[in-house]
Amino acid sequence: MAAVCLSEGLHTFIKGIKERHPGDREFHQAVFEVAQDIIPFMDKNPIYREKRIFERLTEADRIIIFRVTWEDDQGVIHTNRGYRIQHSNAIGPYKGGIRFRAPLRLSVLKALAFEQTFKNSLTGLPMGGAKGGANFNPKGKSDREIMKFCQQYMTELSRYIGPNLDIPAGDIGVGEREISYMFGQYKKIKNEFSGALTGKGVSFGGSLIRKEATGYGCAYMLEFVLKEQNQRLEGKSVAVSGAGNVAIHAIEKLVNKGANVITVSDSSGFVYAPKGLAEKDVEELKILKFEKRGRISQFAKDRGLRYFSGKKPWAVPCDIALPCAIQNEISDSDAKTLIMNGCRFFLEGANIPCTPEAVHTIMASKRVFIPGKAANAGGVAVSGLELTQNSMRLSWTEEELDLRLKEIMADIHATIVKYGREHDGYVNYKKGANIGAFLKVADAMLSCGTV
Ligand code: GLU
Repeated sequence: MAAVCLSEGLHTFIKGIKERHPGDREFHQAVFEVAQDIIPFMDKNPIYREKRIFERLTEADRIIIFRVTWEDDQGVIHTNRGYRIQHSNAIGPYKGGIRFRAPLRLSVLKALAFEQTFKNSLTGLPMGGAKGGANFNPKGKSDREIMKFCQQYMTELSRYIGPNLDIPAGDIGVGEREISYMFGQYKKIKNEFSGALTGKGVSFGGSLIRKEATGYGCAYMLEFVLKEQNQRLEGKSVAVSGAGNVAIHAIEKLVNKGANVITVSDSSGFVYAPKGLAEKDVEELKILKFEKRGRISQFAKDRGLRYFSGKKPWAVPCDIALPCAIQNEISDSDAKTLIMNGCRFFLEGANIPCTPEAVHTIMASKRVFIPGKAANAGGVAVSGLELTQNSMRLSWTEEELDLRLKEIMADIHATIVKYGREHDGYVNYKKGANIGAFLKVADAMLSCGTV
């Protein structure tokens, strides 16, 4: 944060946050990113300041921390720590993913829960914000061990969630398999079949295209942004990081729409395909990652592509950077390299993948920056549609859901342009996303009084 010059109001506000949340680096970062836009906005709209709306949003409604003890295949007993942060239910029940990753800092979850409230608001659906997780590393665990862990995690979590209270979903390390094990345990404990989790299997209440939604949503957003800038997606080179649910489905849609996706990565390195991945490559990638749970070094070998061990893809020249891996994966120097090599668009597929310094550099050089809370909102949006289908006891078709997803992404784009357009015509999408999201939550809080 040091490189960024702060106004006095912002400086005082951030100082207060650091005092109240000592050491929570990632949380400070997330609040700072939103405060940069909301503090000046409140100067012009003092009612929100008077009622301390933004300040209230910097404290989660509650944070639940619990013990998860489980037995591995050798009969060895392990103890992990589980979390659920219920950040805000101002506009709907708490809603957000569960992340299994080790180590896992509470500060990261606080940042993500805070971010989720804003993201969910942008979808236009009635969902509050939450996040959860555990310091559990699923890599190398057997299917039975994953099941045992999910069951024990849910045994404790089930006390705090419900279809009208808090509805978890997947995130890093938690996909359909894990959600389904958790759902099974929830049903057993509560003796009810309800939409208490989203991302379920399609045959038992899950929604079609939920798995694809975050990645597809990124591609739709990119298309809307490019159109607005009188540009086309076809033929543009896109550097993608990650090889999980978000990255793979974004790649699939982008390749399908004629973009040149030139990289894909995991935590060990990246694959470089200078001519762009073909549809056949994407099919192979899906099988390798979703069925075989393999590494992308194997994908490079199988497809005869170059693999760069231990490297991130940000030194590769591209038109568009689409980080879909993890928080803070694009540093300031990565952003500078990307810009120097001609990158004009930065779209956050992951949650908070750009450091504040990187965001500052990108925006100061008037490149287009689309924050994750807008770009990757397609996943939680289809989670919202899964809940609607569960309540109505029906299932929409793939076409219907894809259309709704596209409409939601179009509405988000319209909102962020509306609140982000500056006098010189430049669209500050970050500001647009923050103000557009804040207004809905803030107005609900004003109406409901000091609760
Ligand atoms: N983990 C996803 C996100 O960051 C999805 C959350 C959900 O579907 O509730 O938005």
